[in-house]
Amino acid sequence: GGTELLVIDPGATNNEEKKFNQIKQQFPDIPFRGIVFTHGHHDHCFGAERYIEEAKSKGWDSPDIFAHKLIVERFMRYDKTAKFNEIINSRQFRGGENVGSWKKEYTFPTHHVVEPMSISVGTLEVTLHPDRGETDDAIWIHIPDLEAICTGDLFVWTVPNAGNPQKVQRYAGDWARSLIKMKDLQPKILLPGHGPPIVGKDRVYDALESTAQYLLHLEDDTISLMNKGASLDEILSIVKPNALLGEKHFLQPVYDEPEFIIRNIWRLYGGWYDGQPANLKPPSESDFAKELSDLIPGGPEKLIQRALELSSQNKWRLSCKLADLAYQCDKNNIDINTARGQIYSLRAENETSTMSVGIFNSIAREMGIDPSSNNTFKNQESTKE
Ligand SMILES: [Zn+2]
Repeated sequence: GGTELLVIDPGATNNEEKKFNQIKQQFPDIPFRGIVFTHGHHDHCFGAERYIEEAKSKGWDSPDIFAHKLIVERFMRYDKTAKFNEIINSRQFRGGENVGSWKKEYTFPTHHVVEPMSISVGTLEVTLHPDRGETDDAIWIHIPDLEAICTGDLFVWTVPNAGNPQKVQRYAGDWARSLIKMKDLQPKILLPGHGPPIVGKDRVYDALESTAQYLLHLEDDTISLMNKGASLDEILSIVKPNALLGEKHFLQPVYDEPEFIIRNIWRLYGGWYDGQPANLKPPSESDFAKELSDLIPGGPEKLIQRALELSSQNKWRLSCKLADLAYQCDKNNIDINTARGQIYSLRAENETSTMSVGIFNSIAREMGIDPSSNNTFKNQESTKE
Protein backbone atom coordinates (compact mmCIF):
# COMPACT_ATOMS: atom_id res chain seq x y z
CA GLY A 1 0.00 0.00 0.00
CA GLY A 2 2.88 2.42 -0.63
CA THR A 3 3.20 4.04 2.77
CA GLU A 4 1.91 1.15 4.88
CA LEU A 5 2.21 -2.65 4.95
CA LEU A 6 -0.49 -5.23 5.55
CA VAL A 7 0.99 -8.57 6.60
CA ILE A 8 -1.15 -11.54 5.59
CA ASP A 9 -0.43 -14.70 7.59
CA PRO A 10 2.85 -13.92 9.37
CA GLY A 11 3.70 -17.62 9.43
CA ALA A 12 4.19 -20.92 11.18
CA THR A 13 6.45 -21.45 14.17
CA ASN A 14 9.29 -22.62 11.93
CA ASN A 15 9.18 -19.88 9.30
CA GLU A 16 7.76 -16.73 10.89
CA GLU A 17 11.21 -15.37 11.75
CA LYS A 18 12.44 -15.88 8.19
CA LYS A 19 9.32 -14.21 6.79
CA PHE A 20 9.70 -11.29 9.18
CA ASN A 21 13.33 -10.80 8.14
CA GLN A 22 12.43 -10.92 4.46
CA ILE A 23 9.77 -8.26 4.95
CA LYS A 24 12.10 -6.09 7.02
CA GLN A 25 14.81 -6.39 4.40
CA GLN A 26 12.54 -5.35 1.58
CA PHE A 27 10.57 -2.64 3.39
CA PRO A 28 12.80 -1.48 6.27
CA ASP A 29 11.02 1.78 7.01
CA ILE A 30 7.39 1.17 6.14
CA PRO A 31 5.10 0.90 9.15
CA PHE A 32 2.69 -2.00 9.61
CA ARG A 33 -0.94 -1.06 9.12
CA GLY A 34 -2.09 -4.45 10.26
CA ILE A 35 -1.83 -8.22 10.28
CA VAL A 36 -4.48 -10.57 8.90
CA PHE A 37 -4.82 -14.21 9.89
CA THR A 38 -6.61 -15.90 6.98
CA HIS A 39 -7.57 -18.62 9.49
CA GLY A 40 -6.34 -20.11 12.74
CA HIS A 41 -4.37 -23.11 11.48
CA HIS A 42 -0.91 -23.36 12.94
CA ASP A 43 0.90 -22.73 9.68
CA HIS A 44 -0.66 -19.24 9.43
CA CYS A 45 -1.11 -17.52 12.75
CA PHE A 46 2.25 -17.24 14.47
CA GLY A 47 4.78 -14.42 14.41
CA ALA A 48 2.55 -11.38 14.95
CA GLU A 49 4.45 -10.44 18.11
CA ARG A 50 7.56 -9.60 16.07
CA TYR A 51 5.70 -6.92 14.16
CA ILE A 52 4.18 -5.50 17.31
CA GLU A 53 7.61 -5.25 18.92
CA GLU A 54 9.19 -3.81 15.81
CA ALA A 55 6.46 -1.14 15.68
CA LYS A 56 7.09 -0.30 19.32
CA SER A 57 10.84 0.01 18.82
CA LYS A 58 10.34 2.31 15.82
CA GLY A 59 7.73 4.41 17.56
CA TRP A 60 5.01 3.39 15.08
CA ASP A 61 1.39 2.66 15.95
CA SER A 62 0.90 -0.98 16.88
CA PRO A 63 -0.52 -2.93 13.93
CA ASP A 64 -4.20 -3.89 14.10
CA ILE A 65 -4.70 -7.63 14.06
CA PHE A 66 -7.65 -8.80 11.96
CA ALA A 67 -9.17 -12.26 12.17
CA HIS A 68 -12.54 -13.95 11.95
CA LYS A 69 -14.24 -13.77 15.34
CA LEU A 70 -14.42 -17.59 15.49
CA ILE A 71 -10.62 -17.81 15.60
CA VAL A 72 -10.92 -17.15 19.33
CA GLU A 73 -13.01 -20.29 19.82
CA ARG A 74 -10.52 -22.23 17.70
CA PHE A 75 -7.62 -21.17 19.90
CA MET A 76 -9.60 -22.19 22.99
CA ARG A 77 -10.39 -25.55 21.41
CA TYR A 78 -6.72 -26.07 20.58
CA ASP A 79 -5.87 -25.45 24.22
CA LYS A 80 -8.42 -28.03 25.32
CA THR A 81 -7.26 -30.65 22.82
CA ALA A 82 -3.52 -29.94 22.63
CA LYS A 83 -2.47 -33.55 23.30
CA PHE A 84 -4.99 -34.89 20.82
CA ASN A 85 -3.67 -32.51 18.18
CA GLU A 86 -0.12 -33.64 18.87
CA ILE A 87 -1.19 -37.24 18.26
CA ILE A 88 -3.19 -36.66 15.10
CA ASN A 89 -0.59 -34.40 13.51
CA SER A 90 2.05 -37.01 14.25
CA ARG A 91 -0.09 -39.51 12.33
CA GLN A 92 -1.01 -37.14 9.56
CA PHE A 93 2.46 -35.86 8.72
CA ARG A 94 4.95 -38.29 10.24
CA GLY A 95 3.23 -41.66 10.01
CA GLY A 96 3.10 -41.78 13.80
CA GLU A 97 6.81 -41.19 14.29
CA ASN A 98 7.34 -39.30 17.56
CA VAL A 99 4.62 -37.09 18.94
CA GLY A 100 5.60 -33.42 18.73
CA SER A 101 4.52 -30.46 20.78
CA TRP A 102 1.54 -28.30 20.03
CA LYS A 103 2.30 -24.63 20.50
CA LYS A 104 -0.39 -22.80 22.42
CA GLU A 105 0.70 -19.18 22.82
CA TYR A 106 -1.55 -17.31 20.45
CA THR A 107 -1.76 -13.66 19.52
CA PHE A 108 -5.44 -12.79 19.64
CA PRO A 109 -7.01 -10.44 17.11
CA THR A 110 -7.67 -6.84 18.02
CA HIS A 111 -10.40 -6.67 15.35
CA HIS A 112 -12.99 -9.38 14.70
CA VAL A 113 -14.18 -9.65 11.11
CA VAL A 114 -17.85 -10.66 11.08
CA GLU A 115 -18.91 -9.22 7.72
CA PRO A 116 -16.98 -7.85 4.73
CA MET A 117 -14.81 -5.06 6.11
CA SER A 118 -12.90 -2.44 4.16
CA ILE A 119 -9.71 -1.01 5.54
CA SER A 120 -7.23 1.37 4.02
CA VAL A 121 -3.60 0.37 3.76
CA GLY A 122 -1.56 3.35 2.60
CA THR A 123 -3.07 4.29 -0.74
CA LEU A 124 -4.99 1.03 -1.16
CA GLU A 125 -8.47 -0.01 -0.13
CA VAL A 126 -8.52 -3.64 0.98
CA THR A 127 -11.62 -5.71 1.76
CA LEU A 128 -11.55 -8.59 4.23
CA HIS A 129 -14.24 -11.22 3.60
CA PRO A 130 -15.15 -13.65 6.39
CA ASP A 131 -16.23 -17.07 5.10
CA ARG A 132 -16.40 -20.81 5.77
CA GLY A 133 -14.57 -23.51 3.87
CA GLU A 134 -11.58 -25.42 5.16
CA THR A 135 -12.36 -23.77 8.48
CA ASP A 136 -15.20 -21.80 10.02
CA ASP A 137 -12.87 -18.87 10.65
CA ALA A 138 -11.64 -18.07 7.14
CA ILE A 139 -10.92 -14.64 5.71
CA TRP A 140 -10.04 -13.94 2.11
CA ILE A 141 -8.76 -10.62 0.96
CA HIS A 142 -9.65 -8.52 -2.07
CA ILE A 143 -7.46 -5.67 -3.27
CA PRO A 144 -9.48 -4.04 -6.08
CA ASP A 145 -6.79 -1.58 -7.21
CA LEU A 146 -4.44 -4.49 -7.88
CA GLU A 147 -7.24 -6.78 -9.12
CA ALA A 148 -5.83 -9.28 -6.66
CA ILE A 149 -7.21 -11.73 -4.12
CA CYS A 150 -5.45 -13.58 -1.32
CA THR A 151 -7.36 -16.79 -0.83
CA GLY A 152 -5.71 -18.17 2.30
CA ASP A 153 -6.11 -21.96 2.18
CA LEU A 154 -9.33 -21.73 0.14
CA PHE A 155 -7.02 -22.38 -2.79
CA VAL A 156 -3.87 -24.51 -2.33
CA TRP A 157 -3.26 -26.25 -5.71
CA THR A 158 -4.74 -29.62 -4.64
CA VAL A 159 -8.10 -31.25 -3.97
CA PRO A 160 -9.49 -28.97 -1.24
CA ASN A 161 -8.77 -30.12 2.27
CA ALA A 162 -12.50 -30.49 2.90
CA GLY A 163 -12.43 -34.07 4.07
CA ASN A 164 -9.55 -34.35 6.55
CA PRO A 165 -10.44 -37.54 8.45
CA GLN A 166 -8.96 -36.61 11.81
CA LYS A 167 -10.10 -33.04 12.19
CA VAL A 168 -13.20 -30.99 12.84
CA GLN A 169 -15.97 -30.32 10.35
CA ARG A 170 -15.10 -28.69 7.03
CA TYR A 171 -17.62 -27.00 4.73
CA ALA A 172 -17.38 -28.11 1.10
CA GLY A 173 -20.44 -26.21 -0.14
CA ASP A 174 -19.61 -22.94 1.61
CA TRP A 175 -16.06 -23.35 0.34
CA ALA A 176 -17.36 -23.52 -3.23
CA ARG A 177 -19.59 -20.50 -2.70
CA SER A 178 -16.70 -18.45 -1.34
CA LEU A 179 -14.65 -19.31 -4.45
CA ILE A 180 -17.56 -18.21 -6.63
CA LYS A 181 -17.69 -14.87 -4.79
CA MET A 182 -13.99 -14.43 -5.55
CA LYS A 183 -14.49 -15.42 -9.18
CA ASP A 184 -17.28 -12.88 -9.58
CA LEU A 185 -14.81 -10.12 -8.68
CA GLN A 186 -12.85 -11.10 -11.84
CA PRO A 187 -9.41 -10.89 -10.25
CA LYS A 188 -6.32 -11.21 -12.38
CA ILE A 189 -3.95 -12.18 -9.57
CA LEU A 190 -4.58 -15.02 -7.14
CA LEU A 191 -2.23 -15.32 -4.18
CA PRO A 192 -2.90 -18.72 -2.57
CA GLY A 193 -2.28 -19.90 0.99
CA HIS A 194 0.33 -22.34 -0.33
CA GLY A 195 2.14 -22.59 -3.65
CA PRO A 196 2.90 -20.06 -6.36
CA PRO A 197 0.61 -17.20 -7.41
CA ILE A 198 -1.67 -17.43 -10.43
CA VAL A 199 -1.54 -14.51 -12.84
CA GLY A 200 -3.97 -13.84 -15.67
CA LYS A 201 -7.75 -13.48 -15.60
CA ASP A 202 -8.43 -16.72 -17.49
CA ARG A 203 -6.16 -18.80 -15.31
CA VAL A 204 -7.53 -17.35 -12.10
CA TYR A 205 -11.07 -17.92 -13.37
CA ASP A 206 -10.27 -21.56 -14.14
CA ALA A 207 -8.70 -22.18 -10.73
CA LEU A 208 -11.63 -20.67 -8.83
CA GLU A 209 -14.47 -21.94 -11.02
CA SER A 210 -13.11 -25.49 -11.42
CA THR A 211 -12.42 -25.91 -7.72
CA ALA A 212 -15.86 -24.52 -6.84
CA GLN A 213 -17.61 -26.85 -9.31
CA TYR A 214 -15.58 -29.84 -8.11
CA LEU A 215 -16.86 -29.26 -4.57
CA LEU A 216 -20.44 -28.41 -5.59
CA HIS A 217 -20.63 -31.59 -7.66
CA LEU A 218 -19.66 -33.71 -4.63
CA GLU A 219 -22.06 -31.82 -2.38
CA ASP A 220 -25.00 -31.86 -4.81
CA ASP A 221 -24.69 -35.57 -5.57
CA THR A 222 -24.26 -36.50 -1.91
CA ILE A 223 -27.25 -34.44 -0.77
CA SER A 224 -29.46 -35.68 -3.57
CA LEU A 225 -28.82 -39.28 -2.49
CA MET A 226 -29.35 -38.36 1.16
CA ASN A 227 -32.72 -36.97 0.11
CA LYS A 228 -33.56 -40.37 -1.36
CA GLY A 229 -32.71 -42.11 1.91
CA ALA A 230 -29.40 -43.64 0.80
CA SER A 231 -26.95 -44.86 3.42
CA LEU A 232 -23.41 -43.50 3.65
CA ASP A 233 -22.11 -46.81 2.32
CA GLU A 234 -24.33 -46.52 -0.77
CA ILE A 235 -23.35 -42.90 -1.30
CA LEU A 236 -19.64 -43.68 -1.10
CA SER A 237 -20.05 -46.34 -3.76
CA ILE A 238 -21.96 -44.03 -6.11
CA VAL A 239 -20.64 -40.46 -5.77
CA LYS A 240 -17.38 -39.79 -7.60
CA PRO A 241 -15.64 -36.54 -8.53
CA ASN A 242 -16.44 -35.00 -11.89
CA ALA A 243 -14.05 -36.77 -14.27
CA LEU A 244 -13.03 -33.72 -16.31
CA LEU A 245 -12.42 -31.55 -13.27
CA GLY A 246 -10.55 -34.40 -11.60
CA GLU A 247 -7.99 -34.21 -14.40
CA LYS A 248 -7.00 -30.63 -13.57
CA HIS A 249 -3.46 -30.48 -12.28
CA PHE A 250 -4.60 -28.35 -9.34
CA LEU A 251 -7.30 -30.86 -8.35
CA GLN A 252 -5.17 -33.92 -7.62
CA PRO A 253 -5.78 -35.90 -4.39
CA VAL A 254 -2.28 -35.46 -3.00
CA TYR A 255 -3.23 -33.97 0.36
CA ASP A 256 -6.90 -34.81 0.94
CA GLU A 257 -9.30 -37.05 -1.05
CA PRO A 258 -12.80 -36.72 -2.54
CA GLU A 259 -13.99 -39.80 -0.62
CA PHE A 260 -13.23 -38.02 2.64
CA ILE A 261 -15.01 -34.89 1.42
CA ILE A 262 -18.17 -36.95 0.82
CA ARG A 263 -17.94 -38.26 4.39
CA ASN A 264 -17.66 -34.72 5.69
CA ILE A 265 -20.67 -33.60 3.65
CA TRP A 266 -22.61 -36.51 5.16
CA ARG A 267 -21.45 -35.51 8.64
CA LEU A 268 -22.39 -31.87 8.11
CA TYR A 269 -25.92 -32.57 6.90
CA GLY A 270 -26.59 -35.94 8.47
CA GLY A 271 -24.67 -36.61 11.67
CA TRP A 272 -22.62 -39.67 12.55
CA TYR A 273 -25.13 -42.48 12.05
CA ASP A 274 -24.23 -44.07 8.71
CA GLY A 275 -27.59 -45.71 7.94
CA GLN A 276 -26.48 -49.28 8.76
CA PRO A 277 -28.73 -50.33 11.67
CA ALA A 278 -26.13 -52.63 13.24
CA ASN A 279 -23.80 -49.64 13.41
CA LEU A 280 -26.18 -47.65 15.60
CA LYS A 281 -25.14 -49.73 18.61
CA PRO A 282 -22.45 -52.04 17.26
CA PRO A 283 -20.64 -54.83 19.12
CA SER A 284 -17.10 -53.98 20.12
CA GLU A 285 -14.60 -54.61 17.32
CA SER A 286 -12.98 -57.44 19.26
CA ASP A 287 -16.30 -59.15 20.14
CA PHE A 288 -17.25 -59.08 16.48
CA ALA A 289 -13.85 -60.30 15.29
CA LYS A 290 -13.83 -63.22 17.75
CA GLU A 291 -17.38 -64.23 16.87
CA LEU A 292 -16.56 -64.19 13.17
CA SER A 293 -13.24 -65.98 13.47
CA ASP A 294 -14.90 -68.76 15.51
CA LEU A 295 -16.96 -69.51 12.39
CA ILE A 296 -13.88 -69.84 10.21
CA PRO A 297 -11.68 -72.94 10.25
CA GLY A 298 -8.24 -71.59 11.06
CA GLY A 299 -9.65 -68.52 12.80
CA PRO A 300 -7.46 -65.41 12.98
CA GLU A 301 -4.58 -67.10 11.14
CA LYS A 302 -6.89 -67.79 8.21
CA LEU A 303 -8.06 -64.17 8.25
CA ILE A 304 -4.54 -62.74 8.13
CA GLN A 305 -3.49 -65.24 5.46
CA ARG A 306 -6.38 -64.15 3.26
CA ALA A 307 -5.53 -60.49 4.05
CA LEU A 308 -2.03 -61.06 2.69
CA GLU A 309 -3.41 -62.70 -0.47
CA LEU A 310 -5.76 -59.78 -1.04
CA SER A 311 -2.94 -57.28 -0.52
CA SER A 312 -0.90 -59.03 -3.19
CA GLN A 313 -3.84 -58.40 -5.53
CA ASN A 314 -3.95 -54.72 -4.51
CA LYS A 315 -7.38 -55.24 -2.91
CA TRP A 316 -6.43 -52.96 -0.08
CA ARG A 317 -9.85 -52.23 1.38
CA LEU A 318 -10.70 -55.89 1.92
CA SER A 319 -7.17 -56.80 2.88
CA CYS A 320 -6.98 -54.20 5.65
CA LYS A 321 -10.46 -55.07 6.91
CA LEU A 322 -9.47 -58.73 7.35
CA ALA A 323 -6.10 -57.77 8.84
CA ASP A 324 -7.89 -55.57 11.38
CA LEU A 325 -10.27 -58.42 12.27
CA ALA A 326 -7.37 -60.83 12.76
CA TYR A 327 -5.66 -58.26 14.97
CA GLN A 328 -8.84 -57.72 17.00
CA CYS A 329 -9.03 -61.47 17.68
CA ASP A 330 -5.56 -61.54 19.19
CA LYS A 331 -3.71 -58.27 19.68
CA ASN A 332 -0.61 -59.97 21.07
CA ASN A 333 0.02 -62.36 18.21
CA ILE A 334 3.37 -61.26 16.80
CA ASP A 335 2.89 -62.99 13.45
CA ILE A 336 -0.48 -61.32 12.91
CA ASN A 337 0.87 -57.95 14.01
CA THR A 338 3.82 -58.21 11.64
CA ALA A 339 1.66 -59.19 8.70
CA ARG A 340 -0.82 -56.43 9.48
CA GLY A 341 2.01 -53.91 9.71
CA GLN A 342 3.43 -55.05 6.39
CA ILE A 343 0.04 -54.78 4.74
CA TYR A 344 -0.48 -51.22 5.99
CA SER A 345 3.05 -50.21 5.04
CA LEU A 346 2.51 -51.53 1.51
CA ARG A 347 -0.87 -49.87 1.34
CA ALA A 348 0.70 -46.53 2.30
CA GLU A 349 3.07 -46.88 -0.64
CA ASN A 350 0.07 -47.23 -2.93
CA GLU A 351 -1.82 -44.20 -1.64
CA THR A 352 -1.65 -40.66 -3.02
CA SER A 353 -2.75 -38.41 -0.18
CA THR A 354 -0.97 -37.15 2.92
CA MET A 355 -3.98 -38.18 4.99
CA SER A 356 -4.02 -41.84 3.90
CA VAL A 357 -0.27 -42.33 3.78
CA GLY A 358 0.16 -40.87 7.25
CA ILE A 359 -2.57 -42.90 8.93
CA PHE A 360 -1.59 -46.19 7.27
CA ASN A 361 2.08 -45.69 8.05
CA SER A 362 1.22 -44.98 11.67
CA ILE A 363 -0.54 -48.37 11.95
CA ALA A 364 2.48 -50.08 10.39
CA ARG A 365 4.64 -48.41 13.01
CA GLU A 366 2.28 -49.50 15.82
CA MET A 367 2.65 -53.08 14.55
CA GLY A 368 6.44 -52.87 14.80
CA ILE A 369 7.10 -52.33 11.09
CA ASP A 370 9.34 -49.36 10.32
CA PRO A 371 7.76 -47.56 7.39
CA SER A 372 10.52 -44.95 7.25
CA SER A 373 11.42 -45.86 3.69
CA ASN A 374 7.88 -44.83 2.72
CA ASN A 375 6.95 -41.39 1.62
CA THR A 376 6.05 -39.18 4.57
CA PHE A 377 5.03 -35.57 4.70
CA LYS A 378 7.14 -34.15 7.49
CA ASN A 379 7.98 -31.21 5.27
CA GLN A 380 4.30 -30.27 5.14
CA GLU A 381 3.79 -30.23 8.86
CA SER A 382 4.51 -26.58 9.42
CA THR A 383 3.29 -25.51 6.03
CA LYS A 384 -0.08 -27.21 5.97
CA GLU A 385 -2.93 -28.20 8.18
ZN1 LIG B 1 -2.21 -23.63 5.46
